[in-house]
Amino acid sequence: MTEVFTGIYWLKLPSIMDGNGPKHINAYLVRGEKGYLLVDSGWNTEESFIALQKGLEEIGAAIKDISQILVTHVHPDHYGMAGRIKKISGATIAMHRIEIDSIGPRYVAMEELLQQTDRLLVANGLPHEEMVQLRDATVGLEHYVSPVPPDIILDDSDIIDLGAFTFRVIWSPGHSSGHICLYEPAKKILLSGDHILPKITPNISVHPQSIENPLGRYIASLKEIRKLDVELTLPGHDQPFKNLKQRIDEIIYHHGLRNSEILAAIDLRAKTAYQIAQEITWGENSGWNDLPPFHKRMAVFETLAHLEMMAVESRVNKLSCKGVTSYVKK
Ligand SMILES: [Zn+2]
Ligand SMILES: [Zn+2]
Repeated sequence: MTEVFTGIYWLKLPSIMDGNGPKHINAYLVRGEKGYLLVDSGWNTEESFIALQKGLEEIGAAIKDISQILVTHVHPDHYGMAGRIKKISGATIAMHRIEIDSIGPRYVAMEELLQQTDRLLVANGLPHEEMVQLRDATVGLEHYVSPVPPDIILDDSDIIDLGAFTFRVIWSPGHSSGHICLYEPAKKILLSGDHILPKITPNISVHPQSIENPLGRYIASLKEIRKLDVELTLPGHDQPFKNLKQRIDEIIYHHGLRNSEILAAIDLRAKTAYQIAQEITWGENSGWNDLPPFHKRMAVFETLAHLEMMAVESRVNKLSCKGVTSYVKK
């Protein structure tokens, strides 16, 4: 446990994704007048639970001292253990209104979401054999989540008053439709969840639960957050960092480069998101064939997020033939 600011503790919780995603997830404990606010919970595993217990012991506290849990978004690494902690401590769980509808289809009754994912993959050019592999890539993750509905429903600009800290909720859609960041203007601190990470660009995808034009919404939100006076950013993965504006600029620049790469692929003829995803680069020196199925699915849906944004901006034309969508540069 590291005290990153007087009264705010940073704890790295273990991930279940070996080599397939971030190695750790950051949980933050903020000392309030009536117990601790926990921002993000980690995966629901024994390892993660013990790490949280040990971290709390280091500051002379225990799970029962957590009075509120704020979930930046309901991805399993951020929301997984929230239900379990609530059972022990009686803490209230808070999340953005939009995020609530994702819980059931993701973690309780998944059949419909799988079918929607099927249809979306096929509509974007996936051949059937590959589609099944990609669709099922995240089946099983629900075992690492104890799904419970929130007690407190948050909206943009809501205030969370802990006495020494007063956080403002910032709705920041893109990575997840109901993703939120927390801003403490007097302390110039931003808890950024997966919206802004120091080293990796968060995955922004079109998928069955995504908001319309998620990448466009994401970039608009980054530009709004860039206007805030922030000295310390506490992200959902990797290290806390100071240069928020520069990091936002880098992320926006990155997406601009990706747009150019995609436009070059559809300069001469229309292609599906699936075809484009196979032609563009994925990470340094890697292409489509190097990706595991889970990343292939993200690759198709990320490509789609770029295409949707450029369709909204009238930079590409969207064509539909026999239920399959393709795109061409204008
Ligand atoms: Zn996430
Ligand atoms: Zn995450």
